[in-house]
Amino acid sequence: MPDAFEQLRRRMVETQIIPRGVREKRVIEAMVKVPRHRFVADEAAPMAYSDMALPSSEGQTISQPYMVALMSELLELKGDEKVLEIGTGSGYQTAVLAELAAQVYTIEFFNGLSEMAEKTLGELGYENIHFLVGDGSKGWPEAAPFQGIIVTAAAPEIPPPLFKQLAEGGNIVIPVGARDSQRLIKGKKHNGRLIEEEHTFCSFVPLLGEYGF
Ligand code: SAH
Repeated sequence: MPDAFEQLRRRMVETQIIPRGVREKRVIEAMVKVPRHRFVADEAAPMAYSDMALPSSEGQTISQPYMVALMSELLELKGDEKVLEIGTGSGYQTAVLAELAAQVYTIEFFNGLSEMAEKTLGELGYENIHFLVGDGSKGWPEAAPFQGIIVTAAAPEIPPPLFKQLAEGGNIVIPVGARDSQRLIKGKKHNGRLIEEEHTFCSFVPLLGEYGF
């Protein structure tokens, strides 16, 4: 059912996402579909479709729409994959992934954020998302392997457990670098090794936990 914000979402996609080079049809459809305003703090709702990161409900950050679209596209999902997300946050990126993959496993460090995201995503009717509270830098070994892994917090390096839990042929997308500035990296597992590609510079909140900052 179209909601009042659908036109704003179409504009967001046409002005912020397509012109910057995101072309994958399924990603564009997901960005048009997922109601971003449901994931931001109430006072930020009027800004939900603007070209910026925003505060989410518990003092955390919800990434800029373009960054969500780009990271989703880099995962190269066809629809039948099992995907791992580190950093549930508001759950916005989780919703986009749930549109693009068969099953989404998402880990959040903070219980309050995970609960809030689970509530919102439940209200929106998603049934293919599995939630875990804990240190996502260690991955989710019981559910591995994953055909795609996305980390929405900045890491000093690719956490070795995540490499291990990535399926052959799968992609990991992760901001790697210093605490305040990183490079978005896409790694594809090929013959048990990671072939890395460097993408845009970015600035994510730090990954916590064993393999974080
Ligand atoms: N994808 C989110 C943006 C999240 S911001 C969205 O669309 O809203 C990064 C999130 O990563 C924060 O919620 C933070 O608490 C979480 N985080 C940081 N380190 C983590 C870790 N080791 N394991 C799980 N989550 C972590």
